[in-house]
Formats: sequence, structure tokens, C-alpha cells
Amino acid sequence: EFGSDEGDEDDLAIRPPVVTVMGHVDHGKTKLLDALRDANVVDKEAGGITQHIGAYQVTTEVEGQERRITFIDTPGHEAFTSMRARGAQATDIAILVVAADDGVMPQTIEALNHAKAAEVPIVVAVNKVDKPDADPTKVRGQLTEYGLIPEEYGGDAMFVDVSAKAGTNLEGLLEAVVLTADASLDLRANPEQDAQGLVIEAHLDRGRGPVATVLVQRGTLKVGDSIVAGPAYGRVRAMLDEHGDNIEEADPSRPAMVLGLNAAPGAGQNFLVVEDDRMARQIAEKREARERAAMQAKRRV
Ligand code: GDP
Repeated sequence: EFGSDEGDEDDLAIRPPVVTVMGHVDHGKTKLLDALRDANVVDKEAGGITQHIGAYQVTTEVEGQERRITFIDTPGHEAFTSMRARGAQATDIAILVVAADDGVMPQTIEALNHAKAAEVPIVVAVNKVDKPDADPTKVRGQLTEYGLIPEEYGGDAMFVDVSAKAGTNLEGLLEAVVLTADASLDLRANPEQDAQGLVIEAHLDRGRGPVATVLVQRGTLKVGDSIVAGPAYGRVRAMLDEHGDNIEEADPSRPAMVLGLNAAPGAGQNFLVVEDDRMARQIAEKREARERAAMQAKRRV
């Protein structure tokens, strides 16, 4: 069901890259995600990103053009690895955060290996350059030894010096993400079909019931669509974006918080739009039965 044909070349439109931030603990992943969220300058009229829904989109200007980037708003690589364990890939590009005072550490290499295994291009954010003992050149040398060679040394990885704390050079980092996507990926999707994608996170809200943040990977998700999300199903009653605004539609690479499911599906589960509520329920029940059987089989071992 997933990965079905997207139609002709003409039907495909460029979609924003989806980015995960990875790196060693305390190197500034959370701070960087916060800073990028706050620095979403082009999109000012949207009133800032106020909601933590598990992912957000920023707009930046590269070579005179407005370009969007989607960030998975979970620091670390839990999101990345748990999704990959399910065979799902949400990430197009990884930002590897390395603190310039600390340099390369064990989890830096772990993150690097995850991204390499997934064949995801890496942009290095050399963070904390505001610190007096920062040594960004050393970071470049260290990663070169691991085969991640900076452009300025003749390699193909972009290294960007930033300070998440001071908000220094965040635009440069966003530009590097866009340029890396343009150089090494062909990110296109057909917005004119039924939506498919991934659950980024979900929980049970007291007032609103089950809410799930989904990342649309193909097609356009619309209010009123019947969907299956993992073993959950329902009709999209409303969608909210990271600004807290109601939206009617979510196009490829757009994260949206979906209301109307009967349960909260797990992160990394896929979702898809189906013909009607009955079909949604049938597929969901089949999936649930399959999950239950798998769980029982595991318990017997
Ligand atoms: P994470 O574990 O990778 O998510 O790291 P955090 O974002 O929690 O940051 C760890 C610590 O480093 C916090 O105390 C941050 O305030 C600090 N920090 C993060 N970025 C910078 C930076 O650019 N400069 C300085 N001086 N401190 C930073």
C-alpha cells in the first residue's frame, strides 16, 4: 500500500526536505531546535511557532527564493531509530550537531553511523562557537578522520559554524540544508493524490481525545478524509499546525496535528487516506489483530 505510484513527472512538485537533528548529549540539539523555531523570520505573519507538535516547518530565503524546511522536533535520534526500526524513513537530511569546545564524542559517531546506514546526507552544525575554548577547525579535522570531509577540504559535506545560544548564523545553517538537498536529493511528490505519511507522535488529550502529529509524505491530507494510522482509524475532524492555527489541508513534507482518530497510534506508524470510514475501520481492525497476534507470539517465546 505504501510507496505506490505517484503518477507522471508532470504531477510531481518539489517538496521541502525533512530534517532530524542528531549528536552527542549536551552538544545543543534542543537549543538549536528552539533557536531555529524562533528564528523563523520569513514567516513572521504566521505569528511564530508556538505549539510543540513534534515537527515544524520554517521558511528561509536561498538565492532570492523562499524555501521551506521541515524539522522533526525531537532531539536525539530516538525518532530516527524508532522509525527506522519500523522500516519507515522520515528523514531526508540529518544535521549533526557537534559542540566546538567538546569536539567529536561517542554519540557523535553513533549518529554519524546511523545517518550513513540510512544513506541520509549530513550537514554539520559546529555549535557553541561563542565559547572561548571553541575550536571549530579541530571538529573538521576529527570528522574528516571518520570520512565526513568538509567542502572546504575538497569533500562534499557542508560544515556551518553556529551558536544556538547567541542565534549566530542560523540562516547559514538553513541555507546549507537547502543547498545539500538540491545537490544530492530529488525531493518531489505528487500533491494531487490521497495522502500517505508517518505518525511523528501521538497522545491522548483530555479534551480533544486522541491527537496525532503526522508528517505528510505524499499527496495532500484534508479535513474530512478517512484515514488509517497504524491500528487506529477515523475521519480527520480538524487539523492544527505548529502556529496553533486550524488548517484545511497539509501538503507533502507538512506536519499537522490530526484530530478525529479513535486511538493514539505509535510513532513511526504509517498513515494513509482510504475511500471511506468503513474501509478505514476494516483495515485498522486487521492491523490491530495482526499486532495482537505478533505480541502474543512474542510472549510465548
Ligand atoms: P542536547 O542534549 O544536545 O539537546 O543539548 P542542549 O540543547 O540541552 O544544550 C546543552 C547545554 O549547552 C545547555 O546548557 C545549553 O544552554 C548549552 N548550549 C547549547 N547551545 C549552546 C551554544 O551555542 N553556546 C553555548 N555557550 N551554550 C550552548
